[in-house]
Amino acid sequence: MTIRILEPGAVVGVLGGGQLGAMFASAARRMGYHVAVWDPDIDAPAHQIATHSFSTAFSDLSSREQFANIVQATTVEWENVPAELCRWLEERCPMRPSSKVLSTLQDRIAQKQFLSSRQLPVAPFAMVESGDQLAEAIARLGCPVVCKTATSGYDGRGQWILRTPADAKQLETIMKQPGSSQRWIVERFIVFARELSVLVVRNEGGEFRLYPVVENWHEQGILRATCVPASIDSGIAERAKEVSLQAVAALQGVGVFCVELFHTTDGDLLINEIAPRPHNSGHYTLDVCSVSQFEQQVRVTCDLPLGETRLLGPAVMVNLIGEEVRSVMSAEGCSNLHSTPGAVLHLYGKQMIRPGRKMGHVTFTGPQEELVAAAAQKFMVNLGTSA
Ligand code: AMP
Repeated sequence: MTIRILEPGAVVGVLGGGQLGAMFASAARRMGYHVAVWDPDIDAPAHQIATHSFSTAFSDLSSREQFANIVQATTVEWENVPAELCRWLEERCPMRPSSKVLSTLQDRIAQKQFLSSRQLPVAPFAMVESGDQLAEAIARLGCPVVCKTATSGYDGRGQWILRTPADAKQLETIMKQPGSSQRWIVERFIVFARELSVLVVRNEGGEFRLYPVVENWHEQGILRATCVPASIDSGIAERAKEVSLQAVAALQGVGVFCVELFHTTDGDLLINEIAPRPHNSGHYTLDVCSVSQFEQQVRVTCDLPLGETRLLGPAVMVNLIGEEVRSVMSAEGCSNLHSTPGAVLHLYGKQMIRPGRKMGHVTFTGPQEELVAAAAQKFMVNLGTSA
């Protein structure tokens, strides 16, 4: 099969224009491409970098025609863009990842069913569409369980931990509310030693690249910090990479994928979730890898050769969530940060600060893991938190 490379000067489209879309657009511009960003939010950060901006609803039929007429390939910055729009675009230009992969991954039930049908390890789960089914699922899986909406949940939203069967009552009330999700996935609560993730880049011809395994800390369902390399032995790291690649290959995924895993206290690895796009836990690649996850997304979307994933040094990435961003906005705060050797600040240029909103991140880099971890720890303590 001859694959046609999209040459610099071409226009690549991205559906979604948050920070991930903006970092993709920056990489694409640097590599000589024009970028068409489509995000209904006019303030979405990627619009600032776009050559062509679309801020209409994704359902707007004349915009989809215009978008399709401009772009020569399209990618996504997050999985919850309408699969129907992706299917329509796919008939007109290469779509990376495909609408089929997006449809499977944007529904947590379809995703888990797919993975378990391929004998890939996941937490025991059940699909729930009513209060009665919730009780049955709890009886089968045993408390505690985690109940998640099948679609649209992110950063811990649409997610509940039920510690006892009695906790289900509150959730049943939520389920009955008008406009509430109709489909849920209930998973056994996994006692994990650590959370890991692996970035997998895979192209049309099935070639792939794997980034090092990283370790993630969450607070209230939101990523707090990522450390690379993960503090695991090489056997676990190899298994984590193997299972991540198997999952993306089974999907026949083309694009950048982040496979999130639980490393359980029993030593098992379970796939929690796969994102068909660059991921917050991969932001470190911007500062300490030979090629970043966003450049890989450009490469795979334009059918360029895949890049090297070499880690140039250890790093800890700390998210700036909601009001925390103010700590680096003052003269004193940003001067302190910029005086820290190896600290790299990324601000997303979002106008509104909201609780839980990712406003930026800092990557701490340096030659020694201990020093990098200590600098990140000190910074987090000053943010009023510590991982
Ligand atoms: P998710 O939206 O599925 O990525 O979940 C967000 C976070 O919630 C995960 O990173 C975990 O920290 C936690 N979590 C999700 N599912 C489970 C589970 N089955 N057992 C324990 N913790 C979970």
